[in-house]
Amino acid sequence: MMLPFVLLSTLLPLLVVAQDGSISGPTSSSQAAGYSCDPNKCKLPTCNCASTSPPGGLKPSDVPQFIVFTADDAIQSYTLDAVNQFLAQRKNPNGCPPKMTYFTSLSFTNYTLVTDWYVAGNEIADHTMTHVGTPPADEINGNLIALNALAGIPLSDIKGFRAPFLNYSVDTLKLLAQSAFTYDSSAAASIPVDDPDTDAFWPYTLDNGMANDCLEVPGSCKGEPKLPGFWEIPMYAFFDNRGVAGPHLMDPWLDAANGQSTVDDAATLDYMKKTFTAHYNGNRQPIGLYTHPIHLSLTYPGVNAPKSTIAMINNFLDWAQEQQNVWIVSNEQLLEWVKNPVPVSQLNDFVPLKCSSPNVDASMKICNGVPQNENGLLSHCAFSDFPFYTCYGCPSEQPSPANPNPPQATSSAPARHRLPTNCSTPFWDPIDGKCVCNSDSCKFTDLSRPIGPNGANLTGGGTGSDFNPSAADAGPSYVPFNGAAVSSRLPQGVWSAVLLGSVGAVLGALGVISRL
Ligand SMILES: [Zn+2]
Repeated sequence: MMLPFVLLSTLLPLLVVAQDGSISGPTSSSQAAGYSCDPNKCKLPTCNCASTSPPGGLKPSDVPQFIVFTADDAIQSYTLDAVNQFLAQRKNPNGCPPKMTYFTSLSFTNYTLVTDWYVAGNEIADHTMTHVGTPPADEINGNLIALNALAGIPLSDIKGFRAPFLNYSVDTLKLLAQSAFTYDSSAAASIPVDDPDTDAFWPYTLDNGMANDCLEVPGSCKGEPKLPGFWEIPMYAFFDNRGVAGPHLMDPWLDAANGQSTVDDAATLDYMKKTFTAHYNGNRQPIGLYTHPIHLSLTYPGVNAPKSTIAMINNFLDWAQEQQNVWIVSNEQLLEWVKNPVPVSQLNDFVPLKCSSPNVDASMKICNGVPQNENGLLSHCAFSDFPFYTCYGCPSEQPSPANPNPPQATSSAPARHRLPTNCSTPFWDPIDGKCVCNSDSCKFTDLSRPIGPNGANLTGGGTGSDFNPSAADAGPSYVPFNGAAVSSRLPQGVWSAVLLGSVGAVLGALGVISRL
């Protein structure tokens, strides 16, 4: 399975960043960065200078060691299984299950699992619709529109972006800021933290331009692009025995370490621990496990992840979690802390790290991203190349960058109600078109974002307005996304195990296997 990657590396020995996003040396230097930022002018929570020191002037001993866990590409049962092998059994120091960030691309994604993963408290982020590097606006914004329509993710909660192949340009960053993203996480921190020239900066805003990948991205750095309040969360590489010449950024367990020719889990574990310790004993810049989970799947036919590698990764996390003040987090959780950096002594009361589970009656039959509630209520959208399930009604055609929110197919089932702007996902009943939130604690208001054609503002679900409880008896007050008046009745439930046997799904998975 690694052959294409090995070939690529062989063919492109002179480039530091290969086309698949892996790096072989520093992607920046202080000279190329030409970075300057005045911390007296650039202040939290809306501005943060690129710095190797912890935010808020905290001493490293008062700073948590964050391990960011991310996954990229399509969301399917087997990719979530793969992630769960590492996270489901763990707890953070406050007793809550760790959360992670899933950079989701939509080809071969099963929308209902996106809903489930989000409602379980994880972060859903954008990785373009069809997985293209240096993407045009419709690939970036269409991802938001389709995830909002078909997975019920509020627009305001899709905050982050990672470029496929980590291939981004200055224009990509500008597009993200224009579309009201909070952060990008495509840039590499490519020099070890204990090197005086390290580029392992804490997350920073682009008020004074980029400070990473300055040798790689034309027109970036030396003050550009200036995007006030827009964050970069660098991806922190691990380093093997070769130090700066031996970086491992994504899926380090797929790489041979120390210039060897074959993968050796023991050698990988060794350098992962050493890099972690350098962070932990230094300024505690975050470290990241940036995964393509399909490589670690034990439940996808044709992929046989080595059990020794899975055990090695768990061994690393076990070892890391035995140390004081180590937290496994999503990017959005990390960023909340950076914006408001409280010392470790106060972390147990820090709201963004607290347990979150929506208080929805377990006996309620409602298609809401909670498996026990939605059992039997999902729509099956039987597209030949990648069928999927959704709570929110099948589109008449597959979403595409040209048409990310096609009309709902209503020939075989009544139309469903898309998530409105004033109800949160677990409390929205898309079949009856009502919000089951009855207390202040579950109240929610989505934001509109300028992601429509020519920067037009769009509101949630293509519905264009709020659900209005006072008008509930007369029917929902919003215009359904297909423009037709809707009188919803329960459609036939079509839930079954989410297993895809189609040729398209197989090809799609193979596409993901060369590292994206
Ligand atoms: Zn990818």
